[in-house]
Amino acid sequence: MTTSREVRLAGRPIGVPTEDDFELAEVDVAAPADGQVLVRNLAMSVDPYMRGRMIERKSYVPPFQLGEALQGHAVGQVVESNHAGFAAGDHVSSMFGWREAFVAPGEMLTNLGAIQAPPSAYVGVLGMPGQTAYVGLLEVGKLKAGDTLFVSGAAGAVGSAVGQIAKIKGATVIGSAGSAEKVQWLTDVGFDAAFNYKDAPVRQSLGDAAPTGIDVYFDNVGGDHLEAALDCMKPFGRIALCGAIARYNDTEPTPGPPNLSNAIGLGLTLRGFIVSHFAEMAQQIREDMEAWVSGGQLQYRETVMTGIDQAPAAFIGLFTGANTGKMVVDVSG
Ligand code: NDP
Repeated sequence: MTTSREVRLAGRPIGVPTEDDFELAEVDVAAPADGQVLVRNLAMSVDPYMRGRMIERKSYVPPFQLGEALQGHAVGQVVESNHAGFAAGDHVSSMFGWREAFVAPGEMLTNLGAIQAPPSAYVGVLGMPGQTAYVGLLEVGKLKAGDTLFVSGAAGAVGSAVGQIAKIKGATVIGSAGSAEKVQWLTDVGFDAAFNYKDAPVRQSLGDAAPTGIDVYFDNVGGDHLEAALDCMKPFGRIALCGAIARYNDTEPTPGPPNLSNAIGLGLTLRGFIVSHFAEMAQQIREDMEAWVSGGQLQYRETVMTGIDQAPAAFIGLFTGANTGKMVVDVSG
């Protein structure tokens, strides 16, 4: 028997989540039965999409239940295994984040095998956010060499990978982010232009950065960013609808962009996607991303908060821009 602390949903947030919406609990974790594995988590992810799961509504994933531990990506290490596919010391990824340790059937874990970066990278650039960047840009946005790309939320986990993959593929890359420091980092990692969307209207900054227009817009933000991009698209441009973080804490339904009809005359393609639609590409993506990271073409940053008790603050920080790169909670201590 071992003990673990876990974070539970205490209430359904209204507007921006607060610490009161979460509670920390200690639980006993039994020894693994036949076919089960005991895992101690090292790094866990907080992700913007989790905000949607805190609302009681029908969606592509079921809502979190009040009083139960939250779920999310985590990377951990096997402590004890009663499953042939896992041995003590193996690194595994799972959806059993928001807790320090757990027992689960081996079928619910992915054995990461030989890892080529610190474990936390596998909840970030080498995990789900990196996969999202890859498929959204290349499969949904159909980016090709010579294109001009605009990506919003560009200094975050997904956005920073999007911009750098686009550079690898021979595009001109423009990004928006919420502080001067983030904008500086984007130019440091090779973006051709970047702007702080808080300094001036997005439409104005984007028009200045892309005077001849954009071919692909990778939308992480929605709202004024999507509206500005619709005004700057070239004919037959593509918009990959990845996320709309500017809207996640809205308490009233918000109308769509007033200039959506630009898509008609310009022959634009707007396509939404969820990373899991491309699950069969996971291995190929991992190989490409590991090669780019180890070759230095794809740089990544993490904002690390330490301790499971910091997980709610880390999650809330996503909505205030507290992170540069991937927001990670280190639960290894
Ligand atoms: P990030 O690492 O980008 O963190 C969130 C960032 O969003 C913050 O750092 C902040 O940066 C920015 N932000 C917060 N509020 C606003 C706002 N009102 N307006 C503009 N920017 C804001 O998160 P991820 O990389 O994990 O996710 C990025 C997007 O991708 C999200 O919309 C997420 O839901 C989506 N997503 C979609 C997936 C899919 O399968 N479709 C999978 C994974 C993520 P700043 O300081 O720049 O404001």
